Amino acid sequence: MRLRFLGTGSGSTIGSRRFKAGILVEGDEGKVLLDFGSGINMRLEDMQLVPDAVFITHLHIDHFSGIFDHLVRRQIDRVPELKVFSPPGFSEVLKVYQRTNNISAEVRENPLPTGRIGDLEIYSVEACHKIYAVSYIITDGKRRVLYSGDTLQPCEPVLREVSGVDLVIHEASCLENCREWGHTSVKEAITTFRNPVLTHVPAQIESEVESIIRGKATLAKDGLTLNV
Ligand SMILES: [Zn+2]
Ligand SMILES: [Zn+2]
Repeated sequence: MRLRFLGTGSGSTIGSRRFKAGILVEGDEGKVLLDFGSGINMRLEDMQLVPDAVFITHLHIDHFSGIFDHLVRRQIDRVPELKVFSPPGFSEVLKVYQRTNNISAEVRENPLPTGRIGDLEIYSVEACHKIYAVSYIITDGKRRVLYSGDTLQPCEPVLREVSGVDLVIHEASCLENCREWGHTSVKEAITTFRNPVLTHVPAQIESEVESIIRGKATLAKDGLTLNV
């Protein structure tokens, strides 16, 4: 599997150095996006990549707002409908946009979204966030990756999955304490997981993050590609 970090910023990130949440997972037969925050649509256009499906972790704006521009692009290019897997609520938002825009998507809502796209199999567990959210586990049959989305730690359903995965991609939204907002700090992420890849990081605290992690984690940046 190839992972492309298209957007690694948190909801509170400033500027264009880090776009909002979005990771493209490429198998041999399928391309799946995990979250689709603002800016991800532009990255896809620059890289001439067209995903088959997106799996949304939750309905905070920084995790899905890029999707609407992308749906317009698909309409113009006459690309087949995007499959959108999401916890309940996305179709309601889409309907509002559809009143004034000619866009469409194949939406499948489920409290715990699950699906198979080409050779990629994806399932979810409930995360521990301010609003209902899930974390995703994605596998190509050989390797397994966990993507936390937004969650505080410790979060039991997420922790139960960790022993079975080859890589943990985890949010790290602040340096020290952001439980109150349902998030995990850099310090908590590096003490809870072995060699995680940290994402959902505000661009304005990047240098402090680097000085805290000191080889105990990889700090994802927009453009990072990992083969797992
Ligand atoms: Zn977020
Ligand atoms: Zn959130």
